[in-house]
Amino acid sequence: MDGRERLRAYLEQRRELGESEFVLDSMSIDEALSAIDKLRPAAAARQSQASRPQQPSRPVEARPTPRVAPPAVQRDPVPVAPARAADRVPEVHEESRNVSEDRAPFRAGEDAMKTEKQGEKQGLVVGNANGTLFEQNPFHAVRSINSLAKLIEECTRCPLYETAKHAVPGTGDQSAELMCVGEAPGANEDETGQPFVGQAGGLLTKILAAIDLTRDQVFITNVLKHRPPGNRNPAPNEVEACSPYLVRQIQMIKPKVILALGTFAAQTLLETKTPIGKLRGAVHRYYGIPLIVTYHPAALLRNPAWKRPTWEDVKLARHVLDSAKS
Ligand code: URA
Repeated sequence: MDGRERLRAYLEQRRELGESEFVLDSMSIDEALSAIDKLRPAAAARQSQASRPQQPSRPVEARPTPRVAPPAVQRDPVPVAPARAADRVPEVHEESRNVSEDRAPFRAGEDAMKTEKQGEKQGLVVGNANGTLFEQNPFHAVRSINSLAKLIEECTRCPLYETAKHAVPGTGDQSAELMCVGEAPGANEDETGQPFVGQAGGLLTKILAAIDLTRDQVFITNVLKHRPPGNRNPAPNEVEACSPYLVRQIQMIKPKVILALGTFAAQTLLETKTPIGKLRGAVHRYYGIPLIVTYHPAALLRNPAWKRPTWEDVKLARHVLDSAKS
């Protein structure tokens, strides 16, 4: 099977599993298949030529191999189409595992699952545990989450405040043991000033419930506190301007575990371009705080096959949390 045939088989399999959208670029599966089909006549012609009796071939001239720039090790992240226009959608880099939906744990009303004993794979380490970075923070003198939220509401450190309706500093328990960090507010969050209130937010609530936590027991925030217009990806200058708020929130809340939701949050906090699939499954350290990476809930809405790996990730978060307490 050539690459195109394998891609076709993969898309057909996804369609048979009841999925209709192509997670990488908001193309529907049917559109992708028809795009492949448009390429088929050329392929078919090549194939039929190949099956004709071979003409005596001309001797092939040896040609020097063209010098091509090596492919970039890391591609720019590929945005995923929003689950709803209003939800921010993170980047994904991962191929999915096909997992039957009926095994997925995030269903309304489902009993919280028990944490399994599991070994912890150690991941990346950012900063040292004594918090040097925190001391360099411009908001070091701010003493409470509420005071910081007021500063965020008045923030003009990057141009996003000009287009946003509301700042979204974050909500939840100011001494939470688990802190969830997403990418940036979407349209619903911009309207309300609350993080994760759209469809993705509903799924996050279920994910937390599956490890026995309510939204009130955790602190939920984003890397960016203002919505990038049109849900575009956050720009580096915006991340740089906004990061001290997140760092100060982490310093004041002192969570026992940070759960990074999606590629953007994970790569920003861990200062890496490593794809999310490689960051999952390990306990990283962010200035000494265990940090676990999982898929963004909005990506999960697009690709239910990621519910199972997400469940594994949050079980790990629960396990680390429980170990930190005992
Ligand atoms: N997506 C995010 O990353 N954050 C939100 O608050 C909402 C959607």
